[in-house]
Amino acid sequence: MLARLIAGWRRSLLWTALLGLVLALLATLVWLAGRYEVSQVQERLERDAAGATSDVRAALTRNVQSLQALQTLQGAEGSTATWVLQADALLRNQREWLRLEWRSAALLPLAHTDSPYRPPAFARLGRSNAQAEVALACANARRISGPAYSASYFLPQNDGMGLEAMELCLPKIEAGQTLGYVVATYSLADLLAERVGRHLARNHEVSFTEPDGTRLALHGTARRASRVFTAQQLLDLPGNTLVLRLDSWRAAPDLFPNVLTALVTAMSMALIAVLVLLAKDARRRLRAERDLADALAFRKAMEDSLVTGLRARDLQGRITYVNPAFCDMVGFAPHELQGQANPAPYWPPELTDEYQKRQAVRLAGQHVPPREGFESVFMRKDGSRFPVLIIEAPLINAQGLQTGWMSAFVDISEQRRVQEMQRASQERLQATARLATVGEMASLLSHELNQPLAAIASYASGSLNLMADQPKQLGSDHHYFEMLHTALQRIAEQAQRAGKVIQSVHDMVRRREQRREAVAPQTLFDAVMPLIELQARKLQVQVQLAVDRPLPRVLCDRSMVEQVLLNLARNGMQAMDAPPDLPRVLTLHARPVDHTHREAGPPRWLAFEVADTGPGISQDVAQQLYTPFFTTKAEGMGLGLSLCRTVIEQHGGILGFELRQPRGTIFTFTLPVVPDDR
Ligand code: ADP
Repeated sequence: MLARLIAGWRRSLLWTALLGLVLALLATLVWLAGRYEVSQVQERLERDAAGATSDVRAALTRNVQSLQALQTLQGAEGSTATWVLQADALLRNQREWLRLEWRSAALLPLAHTDSPYRPPAFARLGRSNAQAEVALACANARRISGPAYSASYFLPQNDGMGLEAMELCLPKIEAGQTLGYVVATYSLADLLAERVGRHLARNHEVSFTEPDGTRLALHGTARRASRVFTAQQLLDLPGNTLVLRLDSWRAAPDLFPNVLTALVTAMSMALIAVLVLLAKDARRRLRAERDLADALAFRKAMEDSLVTGLRARDLQGRITYVNPAFCDMVGFAPHELQGQANPAPYWPPELTDEYQKRQAVRLAGQHVPPREGFESVFMRKDGSRFPVLIIEAPLINAQGLQTGWMSAFVDISEQRRVQEMQRASQERLQATARLATVGEMASLLSHELNQPLAAIASYASGSLNLMADQPKQLGSDHHYFEMLHTALQRIAEQAQRAGKVIQSVHDMVRRREQRREAVAPQTLFDAVMPLIELQARKLQVQVQLAVDRPLPRVLCDRSMVEQVLLNLARNGMQAMDAPPDLPRVLTLHARPVDHTHREAGPPRWLAFEVADTGPGISQDVAQQLYTPFFTTKAEGMGLGLSLCRTVIEQHGGILGFELRQPRGTIFTFTLPVVPDDR
């Protein structure tokens, strides 16, 4: 948890740092681009200023040369007119000059001429006003024996305006003697207008200033804007130093000063957008990763907690995955199993061939393994064998292609052991139950055999009595033989019955499949009626037999069912024994069982009823009725009803009783109808 928190913190810190760095980089880039552009503009301006300065300087030098040419005319007497003519010609070419003068060595004006392009410049104040500047320039010129300039000065004009002028003095020196001077008066504004390129004047303000920044002359008009760029160049003239200044305005501050900056900005924005998208993508990935990790952890926990072994194989039969349960099952470590092909280490050597064939069939995809799995035998690392249940399913990847087989294994040795134990205990239980029944049967046997034996005894004593009378009646009475014959027949029947009773007990003990046969209900009654009637006569009971016709046959073990009928009849008759004055009627009845509302067609079951007019069965007795050895009779065994129920239930039927109105009890049991008779 903590580690995840720290990792999350670190990740967000890294992202913040990255974002910060990118923003800083972009800001720097934009700033640098802007600065680069400013420096470009400044540089161009500097270049222009330098160019303009050198243009002006070249023009000044050319002018000095023209003046030197003019100077050659000076000196000779009468040359004044020629000089003026020449000077006029010069003035027409050079608009920056206001006036040209020829002065003597003592600086006295000898000749002069004014620029034809404007009214005489000194008309208002007079030339003497500028005498100091001329004197200074000429003194300088004399000293350096070359052209020298004066400081500029303001020259008011008649039109109320004024102009900044500057004197150039060029001495004529021959053999160390100063013979005279040519003085040219420059108009600084015109100098700029004439000698600075026109293209510059269109976009810039060109001006001469003093070194301290005082503006002297101005030329050109530039569109004023918020940001001014300035370049200055020194124009160092002998005697005067001027500063040529170029001013240029730009609309600044501009967010996108030019295409470069705009491009950089656009790219920066694109970069930020990409960064944002990347961050979103990373977050999505992170979430997916976390979900995946959770799912993986969940799956791992599930696999580890499984008691079912899991194994995956690729299409070549190599093991690609085993879970811990599988390793525990076979006793091999995962690395001993993974990558293993045939034969697998857990295959018992004696079964390898069979398993190999099975695997070949599986890998060929010809046979789909049964969904409920199949059983096999594996070998542990220690060599012991154990049975497993294998459930196999094809391994399908995300593209829907089969990449192998996934198998689940359940170790069924424990299950087998439990099954075996259950079977053994079941057998033991059954044997015990049979033994218990044997005890019951043995007791019953003595009970049951009493009847036929008593009957045999009574028939036998009857026969003996008849035979004792024989000398008197023999030969004369046909009836006598008939009675004897019947008695002997009955003895034979009862002896047979006793034999059958013993046989059925024997069968029960041996648990042989009971012999079921199809018997008509009437036949069953016929078999037991003589015995019932024998007892009925003794107990003065009236027996009624009612068999509905036609009735289908029932499927039963005949002698056992006869035994049940006998038992129930005997119980009924014994119950009626107590009060001598009440009617004693035993009713035997066979009928089809009523259909339930769902069934239709012929009956499936027959019901046999044995009804008496006895006292009925009290609650207390009813509770223990079927308990072995429960009896209310002095000589009773208490086994009859429990045995009857066992017999009927073995036939699939039920035995029950209900009270009869106004007196008595009705015992009912059911038996299945023979399918063919339905
Ligand atoms: P036994 O006849 O040897 O006593 P049974 O298991 O046949 O053993 O009967 C158990 C008891 O159920 C009898 O002792 C008797 O009290 C009672 N009983 C059985 N049948 C009837 C009947 N028809 N009427 C009243 N009581 C009965």
